[in-house]
Amino acid sequence: MTAGLAAALERYEAVIGIEVHCQVRTATKMFCACAADADPDEGAPNSRTCPVCLGLPGALPVINRRAVEHVLATGLAIGATVPSATRWDRKNYFYPDLPKGYQISQLDLPLASHGSLTFDTSAGERTIGIRRAHLEEDTARLIHATDPDGRKVSLLDFDRSGMPLMEIVTEPDVRTAEEARRYAEELQRLLRYIGVSDADMERGQMRVEANVSIRPRGTEPFGTRVEVKNMNSFRSVERAIEFEIERQAAAIDAGETIRQVTRGWDDDRGITYVMRSKEDSEDYRYFPEPDLPPLRVDAAWLAEIAAGLPELPAARRARYAGTLGLSAYDAGVLTATRETSDYFDAALAVAAAATPGTAAGGTAAGGTAADPVVSPKALANWITGELTRLVNAAAGADRGRIDRSGIAPADLVALVRLVESGEISGTSAKEALAEAFESRRPPADIVADRGMRRISDADAIGAVVSDVVAANPAAVADYRAGKEQAVGFLVGQVMKRTGGRADAALARTVLRAHLDADGSQGG
Ligand code: ADP
Ligand code: MG
Ligand code: ZN
Repeated sequence: MTAGLAAALERYEAVIGIEVHCQVRTATKMFCACAADADPDEGAPNSRTCPVCLGLPGALPVINRRAVEHVLATGLAIGATVPSATRWDRKNYFYPDLPKGYQISQLDLPLASHGSLTFDTSAGERTIGIRRAHLEEDTARLIHATDPDGRKVSLLDFDRSGMPLMEIVTEPDVRTAEEARRYAEELQRLLRYIGVSDADMERGQMRVEANVSIRPRGTEPFGTRVEVKNMNSFRSVERAIEFEIERQAAAIDAGETIRQVTRGWDDDRGITYVMRSKEDSEDYRYFPEPDLPPLRVDAAWLAEIAAGLPELPAARRARYAGTLGLSAYDAGVLTATRETSDYFDAALAVAAAATPGTAAGGTAAGGTAADPVVSPKALANWITGELTRLVNAAAGADRGRIDRSGIAPADLVALVRLVESGEISGTSAKEALAEAFESRRPPADIVADRGMRRISDADAIGAVVSDVVAANPAAVADYRAGKEQAVGFLVGQVMKRTGGRADAALARTVLRAHLDADGSQGG
């Protein structure tokens, strides 16, 4: 935070509302059968078009059922109200990327309204109201370029035209730039958990716009808002809002009036700039879409969608921090992605099922039964520590994906059990895990092959102790002269000879017994 922003925030409070457009994950487009690829801008342009998405006269739209289901699932996941019947509306405006002159959208009967999203921030937990979520179609893509003769040309790619888009609009509840970023991150996480969208900001599958105004601290009325667009990372959402708050405060302090405009974020220069004035705010002449019937959402359909929802990130965080007693930090890291959380839950279930007396117990939602050997905390540490480190160093699509590490949850549990029961050292376990990750073999097999089990047999340790005593006469003499530190040195030698596998406490006992016995004989 700059000094200017900190100063501005002493006197002003920001009021922020977030609008998110996200590409809904479907096989086909919103109103036609053209392929809806995850990245419609990839590959040959204009290769996924038909009369409907080209906007040709007379072509009729057909509603994509899956797209509607995804918005309904989102509505349920944010605790929104879903109407029993909804409608489509035409939003009329002219722009070259919208050849039919209107966009099919939803005006006053969105598929979801009055929801909320709860997430953690550095200042504690926050809940932001979500005004609405509705479905609409995307426009074509307009590309401004220079042709081989040096002339400026504008090209149109219709592969994006008609892609299903969900717009999610918050109440003006957000108060800081950090909150805005955290909201966007949590929304992305939620959409990914429920499988509604890949919501990748860099690939344009999730576009975040922020409405920002400021008001003197302690006052109620909202100031005039500025809409900020073109942020293509979570980091730029935060930076753009911080810049905008500071800019508005300076303008007001200089006696200027804030006008309602749309500003773009220039990530390289770190500033917002005026894109267009909103004063001559367009009249979209909305009217009900005559080519589509109203859509009825019956209770059975909604119940089926609700039944298909997984446990949501917030509920998992609460379960991990509550029932399992993990720290809020661990709970956050473990639920960062659904893959990691599912992996952890699978490992918990294995650990709980292997515990005598709890096998029949409730291990359903990830298991809460306490394993006396493999605790949730131990599993959490191995998953967020070593396993994460290994997958983060992986290449390509497997990078960061614990579910593609080749180490099954049950195999990790087996390894953690070996460590926790003292059969292998933590160092050996790390080695076994790294080798398992490379070779795709179960870590327990590697432990067996490489003889990593601790030596906790007194006879075996005794043999090593004799060797060590024979090889280190100086240290033995020190011990006899009353130097206690010599014991530590000799135990260290035992550990070295056993590759760290000797039970250190046992080695110390055996060593002392050996030295004292020898000493009495000799003296
Ligand atoms: P529009 O119809 O122009 O999109 P809305 O009233 O739907 O405007 O609001 C768009 C977004 O702006 C919403 O997220 C809303 O919460 C937010 N918003 C409204 N008024 C303000 C304000 N004064 N300051 C900041 N955000 C605002
Ligand atoms: Mg809007
Ligand atoms: Zn089409």
